[in-house]
Amino acid sequence: MAHRDLYNVLGVSRGASQDDIKKAYRKLALQWHPDRTGNDDEASGRFKEVTYAYKVLSDPTERARYDRLGPLYTPDGRPPRPEDLNDTVSSVVGRWFGRKNEKKGEDLRYTLTLTLEEVAKGSTRRVVVPRKARCSACGGDGAAPQGKALCEICDGTGRTKGLLLRTDCFHCDGKGFTIVEPCGECHGEGRVELEDKIDVNVPGGVATGQKLRVSGKGNAPLGAGAVGDLFVIVNVADHPLFARRGEDLVVEMPTTYAELALGADIDVPTLDGRTTIRVPPGTPPGRIFRLAGRGLPRIGRSGRGDLHLQVVLEVPEQLAADQRDALQSWSSSLAEDAHPRRRSFDEAVRAR
Ligand SMILES: [Zn+2]
Ligand SMILES: [Zn+2]
Repeated sequence: MAHRDLYNVLGVSRGASQDDIKKAYRKLALQWHPDRTGNDDEASGRFKEVTYAYKVLSDPTERARYDRLGPLYTPDGRPPRPEDLNDTVSSVVGRWFGRKNEKKGEDLRYTLTLTLEEVAKGSTRRVVVPRKARCSACGGDGAAPQGKALCEICDGTGRTKGLLLRTDCFHCDGKGFTIVEPCGECHGEGRVELEDKIDVNVPGGVATGQKLRVSGKGNAPLGAGAVGDLFVIVNVADHPLFARRGEDLVVEMPTTYAELALGADIDVPTLDGRTTIRVPPGTPPGRIFRLAGRGLPRIGRSGRGDLHLQVVLEVPEQLAADQRDALQSWSSSLAEDAHPRRRSFDEAVRAR
């Protein structure tokens, strides 16, 4: 179990009189007593904790031993158990390597839906993310402006000479001060929940599933430590005209038989407007016209992909009688070699 300073458990100062200790205990014991809190596990844990703290601190001999030993104190007077020692040593060793008990705040995720046009240009998008930020009123230490007291144990240095090694002060957890009046903004937590407006820089050419990291825009940790990061997950919305293949774009271009047979200039869409392409006479359906450099930006490289325009033949579903006659007579007027592929296909079928 992690060590909690017994004076902190009772909410009294290091120099508290026996009377203060008794009063503090009565109040807390009443608050956490199982008769009042029923079978609540947390409450019964708190009750045991305050009772233990009272047992030690109300006995002058035990209290003196506790003051001397701190986290290594055991009630039976025997040397600390190995697991207690391990806890202490590992936290001390952690501090040597600069880890302290510091934890980074949680990372957050946000899904950002973009249009293909935004992906083509690259853009800055403002997003609103609920996050826990460091409290600006107290700078994150959780104390009101005059609400800090210099730690009596370490005289504000945050360090004490332990039994084994110099280590962080266990009374103030290395902060050098204790909070006598919590910050009114964050109620002592050192962080506040807010709807943060964050400008996310979206590079051109991003694809669905890509993660953009905005560092320091996750949650602030409880206590000291780095603020987490925000990961923006890209989702590119489907487009009614353009399909995406990597950095290339594909557009189906519906055409009429007459346009393909006679040739035509056809207006086609591009991501930033439109252009005209010339379809030569005799163009078959399925042919692809490529507009180089009219696709999406290449990520991590210069240049852009291509725009592919795929010819699709649209056949009328209904014809009036006179149109049918006209088409029929036009068809019979064609020379025998007008459809060479059809002709050899028919020959192959007949030979079977
Ligand atoms: Zn605050
Ligand atoms: Zn201290």
